[in-house]
This record gives sequence, C-alpha cells and structure tokens, in this order.
Amino acid sequence: MAEMAYLQVSRMCNQKCVFCSNPANGSILSWKEAKALVGGFAGKKFAGIILTGGEPTLFKELPKLVAYALEKGLPPRLITNGQKTADLKYLKALHAAGLRHMHVSVHSRSAKKQADLSRNPRSLPNIAKTLYYAGMLGMNVDINTTINRVNAGELSTLARWLTGRWPFLRHFVWNNLDPLMNGAALGPDLAPRLRDFEVELHRAMTDLASTGRTFRVARVPLCYMSDFPECSTETRRIVKGEARSIYFLDQKGLQEQDRHHWTYGKSPRCAQCSLDPVCAGLYQMDAYYSSQELCPSQLPAQEVRRRILEDAEG
Ligand code: SF4
Repeated sequence: MAEMAYLQVSRMCNQKCVFCSNPANGSILSWKEAKALVGGFAGKKFAGIILTGGEPTLFKELPKLVAYALEKGLPPRLITNGQKTADLKYLKALHAAGLRHMHVSVHSRSAKKQADLSRNPRSLPNIAKTLYYAGMLGMNVDINTTINRVNAGELSTLARWLTGRWPFLRHFVWNNLDPLMNGAALGPDLAPRLRDFEVELHRAMTDLASTGRTFRVARVPLCYMSDFPECSTETRRIVKGEARSIYFLDQKGLQEQDRHHWTYGKSPRCAQCSLDPVCAGLYQMDAYYSSQELCPSQLPAQEVRRRILEDAEG
C-alpha cells in the first residue's frame, strides 16, 4: 500500500488521556486552512489521508472535509477516541460524506481503567456505541491501543473481548507508550517495562493471526516481537524505505519523516544481533526504557525482509 498523508485538524480534545502523544494546545484549523492542506497533499501520490488530532471530530466541518478529500482523490480515514461518533446522527453524517474507515482508540476492557486512562468516565460505553453503530453502517474499523503499565498484562484479553463482541474488527495497532509527548500528565510509573507486556503481546498477536486478522506494533524492539517481527511498524518502513508526511497543528508544521526517523537507540548487545539491520532499536533508550532488557536474536534479517516484501498487503 502506498503511504498515507496525516493531517491534524484539531488539537482540542474531549478526553484527557494521560499518555496522549499530541496533547491539546487549543489549536484548530479554519476551513480555509484545512482545504488548502488537503489540496496540497492531493496529487502527491498518497493512497489517502488520515485525519487526526487531538480529536478530529471537534473540527466542525469534518463531514465537509471528508467529502472534499474524496473529491481530491484522497480516501480519508479518521483516528478518533470514539466519543463524538457514539452519536448515530453524527456518525451517519460522516458516513454520508464518504467516510468508510476509522481507527478507534481503546486501551482497556475495564470501563474503570479506560476511564482512568482517558480521564473520561463515559469513555468505554461511548466506544462500545461507536463500534456498534460503525458495524451497523458497514464501516471498516481498526483498533489503536497504547501499551502502558496499566494494560500491559491484559492486551490479549482486550483483543479477544473486542473481536468476540464486534467480529467485523480485522486490524489492530499497538503503540508502546511515548513518554516524551505528555510528560506533565504522566504518572511516574506509566511507562511499561518491555517484559511487562512481552507475553501478553505475543498471546494477542498469536490469537489475532490464528483468525486471519492483521496487526502492527510501534516502539517495540524486534527482540520483543518474537514470531512477528514483520509486523513492526518501524521495521516495515525501514525495509520499504518509506517516508511519511504529517501536518502537526503546532510549531512543527509540515514534516516529512524519512527512514532515518524510524531509528532509535541501539546498545552494544545489538551489535551481536542478526536483526540489527532491520530493527529500529529501543525508543528513549535508558531514559524511559532500559537497554538491559534487549536480547540479541538469531533470526536472519533477510527472512524479515522477505516476509515484508512478500506480504501481499504491502
Ligand atoms: S537486540 Fe537490538 S537490534 Fe536486536 S532486536 Fe533487540 S533492539 Fe533490535
């Protein structure tokens, strides 16, 4: 699949997730700015555009922007916390404008933990409504989960609950927590140790693979991806030499992230590891994540390359 462009349309939010990687800063695009940015991405061979935030549903003209992106040849997707989309009338308006694909963020099967992590007591009940309505409308929904100390031991429980209740869910994305972005809000112990989620992540990936579902994992070094190194987001970008265009609604503005962007810290142990050429290493090494947890692999990098390049999905 060719790359997607990313556009932050709103940096306001109706939740206050403790680990938010793009926290609210009060900014929101005007219609004129949004239209110009979508127009700028059009004609650059993107497969589509991901409308994100903050929470993109707080951008008032979102249905109009969905229709405009389609008109410009950029099939849109939405990354949402699933709160405003719990309103069927609103979701129908997005669907009528042409939205067919959403990524919904869910972090726990427990309503209490989801409420604590999002600082929104209605978070999980609203997500359940969103998934129910999206299924009813025949929309394609991916699940995004941020791995943290609270949910590290229950990743497979969450995935099993979601696929059991909404069997139309076919694709899952786990992002290991980025402690840099919202440090002020983070509790001191929210960043997981890699070993906290190793077994559960493997169980979740194995379960999903056994039912023909797909998944991607970001900010997890390949030594913690055991049987599924080809599902690492960074490794796929390294192998395919992919760049990414993203418009941040802050001082960063438009960024082109090339393949070097996907390389993190490496320890002396990595020099002994056969996966070194295709592994991004450890994000925030020895700041938030410990190099002592890394463990050289003997799987040939060529085998990982082969699996990625032969993957019909791209
Ligand atoms: S030991 Fe280093 S290079 Fe090897 S998989 Fe782990 S982080 Fe990657």
